[in-house]
Amino acid sequence: MKIKISISKKTENCMSRKYQLFINGKFIESSSKRTFDSINPFSQEVVARVARAGIEDTRAAIRAARNAFDDGPWRLMPPSERGALIKALSDKINERTKELVALEVADSGSTMRKAKEDIFLSARCMNYYSKLAAQDLTENIEGLSKPGFAQNLLVREPIGVVAAIIPWNFPLKMAVWKLGPALAAGNTIVLKPSELTPCTAMELAAICSEAGIPDGVVNIIPGFGEDAGEELAKNPMVDKIAFTGSTAVGRKVMAMASASLKKCTLECGGKSANIVLDDADLDLAVDGAMYAIFYHAGQCCEAGSRLLLPEKIHDEFIGKLTAKTKRMILGDPGDERTDMGPLISRRQQERVLGYIAKGKEQGAKIASGGNAPSEKKLSGGFFVEPTIFVDVDNSSVIAQEEIFGPVLAVVKYKNDDDAVRIANDSVYGLGSGVWSRDKERAMNIARRLRAGTVWINEWHLISEKAPFGGYKQSGIGREFGIDGLKEYTEAKHVHIDEVGVREKKFWYDTVVPK
Ligand code: NAD
Repeated sequence: MKIKISISKKTENCMSRKYQLFINGKFIESSSKRTFDSINPFSQEVVARVARAGIEDTRAAIRAARNAFDDGPWRLMPPSERGALIKALSDKINERTKELVALEVADSGSTMRKAKEDIFLSARCMNYYSKLAAQDLTENIEGLSKPGFAQNLLVREPIGVVAAIIPWNFPLKMAVWKLGPALAAGNTIVLKPSELTPCTAMELAAICSEAGIPDGVVNIIPGFGEDAGEELAKNPMVDKIAFTGSTAVGRKVMAMASASLKKCTLECGGKSANIVLDDADLDLAVDGAMYAIFYHAGQCCEAGSRLLLPEKIHDEFIGKLTAKTKRMILGDPGDERTDMGPLISRRQQERVLGYIAKGKEQGAKIASGGNAPSEKKLSGGFFVEPTIFVDVDNSSVIAQEEIFGPVLAVVKYKNDDDAVRIANDSVYGLGSGVWSRDKERAMNIARRLRAGTVWINEWHLISEKAPFGGYKQSGIGREFGIDGLKEYTEAKHVHIDEVGVREKKFWYDTVVPK
């Protein structure tokens, strides 16, 4: 897909926007009148001044979603009508591509190429859920009752009020990944975007309003984790938490949600192992390894942040990889030529530089990068050079902890068994990859990797049609596909007696006096 977009001066100038909370179909100020600024991570200019949802506002949003679920038309609406409204959301995202791309670039530091792909995929994902919404998921349960005695149905119903909490790395995509299945299954929702990237989620609120989604079905409240986020996790009127973010916060959210036994799906962190076998197409694998770690400056949950190489090809591979990495263009994310933009915030930049210092301290060697760039044109942004560490011990901090930045840890392995052992030696299990010319050998390894996705000669390929999620501490549950939709439903057994004769009931001889 090719869309030609460049950010014009005019768009840049009108970038400083104001956003309010979206509750019960209305745009309103926060009850405390508090606001926060969303900052462009390349220029540090204010992209938008945003109303900050506090605890009271969050409760109001939850109440609106509760009322819309219990008494509104949404959950009982014929599935085809619900599907048509979700399709309208997809169409409107498509219509506003240009504006949404520009906002995503300014607000999140996404490169132009990434932002275009993100908006296109957001619309496509919403369209997919519009089709799933129209599908009847009711199943006949076979073999439970003798034919003619009863019918048994498995009916899928919405869970109720969904609270969705999302991160900053793919702002609109993450919002759609929650909104799409929640709405398709007939739930109502309160969505809290990240405080670092609220803009496109707030545009989505406007889109919901224009598309005619009934009041209270979608509520979007920009805010922080410590008040809005915690209230969503604790409030007993919320039935399900759909969380994407770090494993540390995921753990806290799950603990808070346990008081009222909310259903929880968690999409958390990763430390994905990228295994290159000695028979791989080296040039392809080098490009793949760069894409795996440096896409969006390494700020992807499934980033290929551990590269596993055998001795035989190690030096040649690192030679090619460092040469290409040094040619990457760091710069204005709004420029089509930029390969890598800034990190999201100063805090994230400092955190990543702290990990680089730790890596050196623990004995790993820098093959490329390792600093914040010194060029003047990059001085306003939160940049870190694409960094490659070699001679990394898999038990060291930079191989075990999620850095969430452009830092690659290269670990040597002895043979295929050793590669599998090292890859699985992690608390995480989100993505993984194998590069080889031998499909059977790669498949044997793929089966042994404890990760939710294995790419063979590929990376970052995530589709709304295939399950995505983590083994181990990378998460609970799956997004996408029918399985992903079912995460937003309760399963109900409906038994329909077809005999109606009390002597034929299995309980006839148990309790009831003759
Ligand atoms: P984060 O955990 O700091 O924040 C995520 C969200 O949780 C934000 O909206 C934040 O405001 C909210 N939050 C923070 N503290 C909270 C609290 N105490 N209670 C309730 N909510 C709270 O993550 P981040 O820094 O925004 O994003 C990066 C992380 O997200 C990485 O670990 C990355 O791997 C993960 N991620 C995972 C996936 C996936 O699909 N597995 C996708 C994208 C990002």
